[in-house]
Amino acid sequence: MIDSGFVKRNIFVKTIHISLNSNILESPIEYLKGVGPLRGDMLKKELNIFTFKDLLELFPFRHLDKTKVDKIALLTYKNDYAQVAGKLMQIDVTGTGRSKRLVAYLQDDTGEIELTWFQGINWMQKSLNVGQQYLVFGKLGFFMGKPQIVHPEVETFTIEKSAGKKFLEPIYPSTEKLKAKGLTGRAIGKLTYTLLQMITEKEISENLPSSTIKQFHFISRYNAYHNIHFPTSDEMNTQAIRRLKFEELFFAQLRLGLIRSARHRFSKGWVFDKVGDFFNTFYNNYLPFELTGAQKRVLKEIRKDTGSNRQMNRLLQGDVGSGKTIVALLSMLIAADNGFQSCMMAPTEILAQQHFSSISSLLKDMPVNVRLLTGSTSAKEKKRIIKECEEGAINILIGTHAVIEDKVQFKNLGFAVVDEQHKFGVAQRAQLWKKNTTPPHILVMTATPIPRTLALTAYGDLDYSVMDELPPGRQPVVTVHRYENTRPQVMDFIKDEIKKGRQAYIIYPLIEESSKLDYENLMKGYEEVKSFFPEPKYWISMVHGRQTADVKETNMQRFVKADTQIMVGTTVIEVGVNVPNATVMVIESAEKFGLSQLHQLRGRVGRGSEKSFCILLTSNRINNEARERLKTLCATNDGFKIAEKDLEIRGPGDISGTRQSGALNFKLANIVQDKVILETARSIATAILEADPELNTAENLPIKQHLQLKKNETAWSKIS
Ligand code: ADP
Ligand code: MG
Repeated sequence: MIDSGFVKRNIFVKTIHISLNSNILESPIEYLKGVGPLRGDMLKKELNIFTFKDLLELFPFRHLDKTKVDKIALLTYKNDYAQVAGKLMQIDVTGTGRSKRLVAYLQDDTGEIELTWFQGINWMQKSLNVGQQYLVFGKLGFFMGKPQIVHPEVETFTIEKSAGKKFLEPIYPSTEKLKAKGLTGRAIGKLTYTLLQMITEKEISENLPSSTIKQFHFISRYNAYHNIHFPTSDEMNTQAIRRLKFEELFFAQLRLGLIRSARHRFSKGWVFDKVGDFFNTFYNNYLPFELTGAQKRVLKEIRKDTGSNRQMNRLLQGDVGSGKTIVALLSMLIAADNGFQSCMMAPTEILAQQHFSSISSLLKDMPVNVRLLTGSTSAKEKKRIIKECEEGAINILIGTHAVIEDKVQFKNLGFAVVDEQHKFGVAQRAQLWKKNTTPPHILVMTATPIPRTLALTAYGDLDYSVMDELPPGRQPVVTVHRYENTRPQVMDFIKDEIKKGRQAYIIYPLIEESSKLDYENLMKGYEEVKSFFPEPKYWISMVHGRQTADVKETNMQRFVKADTQIMVGTTVIEVGVNVPNATVMVIESAEKFGLSQLHQLRGRVGRGSEKSFCILLTSNRINNEARERLKTLCATNDGFKIAEKDLEIRGPGDISGTRQSGALNFKLANIVQDKVILETARSIATAILEADPELNTAENLPIKQHLQLKKNETAWSKIS
């Protein structure tokens, strides 16, 4: 059965193989000597290894150094592992039951080492011979000052072995299921070794320009693959890793750069060539403050993009409270000056509502038609808005997802703002493109800064602006961590602030929208707050995700108008909400929130001129990671620093605000630890594309060939 299956499969496989006329590395894994259909299936299921190439790119997580034979007397606790050679002097079996063990003593010309087995005792006893020479390897320990190895690898010693192995021995990740089929981390190494013997420089051809290789003293690609698996020394392994990490990040950056530059060269955009009455009247008469330097700079960047005849696709990163909204508004006024409509989308109803009311009030004395469209807009109103939008009577349409529904058509949409980006999917952004014959310019604003390295990797195909300056006069929010048992003092503090005419938020965690427990805690919390702050002296609003939009809105508005002094809520108030009179933010069970979410919540206070406070309440016992998060938050108000820390603590995969974590999954590179390599790879990729956008020079031929190969591979994986 197995045999015939094997034959059939191989015939099938061969046909595809030949028809694609491809590199041997694309051969299906079962084709490799020592694999076969059964193990092949296991490798596919367990490790996603489908082809020779996949195996080649399964990198060892560490190496064992058996290149040297150590002298027993020279071993110290500094040696993690030891390889020694000597004569077996004695074997004892001691203890009974669970403590039964086999102890053997091996001697070289300098000293003696103890070898111990707790398992496989009978088998070891039978295979070991007193008086014989053995080569022994294992994790070194010391007991009462004497060296010992528990469960060492043992092989009969021969003269050839006295020189040690030629390579460091790689250990690969494996799984329980694979191990059960004999595919241990070490057995996988044997397969990789077989594979490496089969391939030549032709299959692992150079993919970097020679100037880059020279500049960074990289070893060749072929050499790197050998030395990442079977390095001749630690130093060679380091060189191999350095080269392959660069390569990985370089091609990621290059691809993003290619998309970006293709867009710059080919995508037609509306030209906003003038700044007219809308902008100037507003800027000169109604702008309530002086723009910050950062706001001016970003506005210039937007002007430049929208004034050229390509479509803008810009990501605007700015810390909480850095004033992104006004930048969006000014840009939309420029669109209006050029005869175009704009839309602005927010992820929640409350936020859309807030944008609408603040923008309408800023524009109240200007002939700009601003409308709001959300899920709770009445059918009648909606119909009217859609009609006005089609006729071009609306200048700025603000709303939620409702704005991009197919029903909503614009007469001439030229500019779209997507606020608090991470709640918006890529698909929705794509929908925007279809709203006009030429897609509108798009400005995407993030809610929380993400570290530069992450932005470069996840959003490298977008143009990128940073607002790293807060409006003047802002006082940093004083942040403290308090334990549960000081709750009464915290409540008294809120009372003092309310006495001064201020307002406070008290936020409860809502880990899952559907979690009953979270709601019970919220309700319990609400009752408790009420007992501290009895009516009619105090009034409390409550907002959470299970309320209807109307109720939410009413409660929110009462707080905005200062009819209530306290807002109890879940993270639905997280983004964007602006109540400058609120000076206290209490976050309950703060240990349950992520760093960026805490920072975002904290950003709800410190919006006015008064000194503001953020109190992180936690249970009396919290784990170290949570403690570190809270410490970071107490130490800094800088969203970019916090984002870096967040990335460090959690790793790139979990960071919210990144659109496809897939873009961040590198085999070798880690964008936190390899930040320097990433920056270098990016600048090299950018320089290459600037000089040779289509990669047509001979120097860049290796790059082009590599990209071509990758393309074919993608085609192949779709076939299989
Ligand atoms: P975010 O970047 O978090 O969206 P907002 O746009 O909501 O920030 O702005 C936060 C607050 O700062 C708003 O009340 C806004 O009016 C105010 N603001 C924005 N820019 C300036 C400025 N240049 N000077 C003073 N206040 C400003
Ligand atoms: Mg905002």
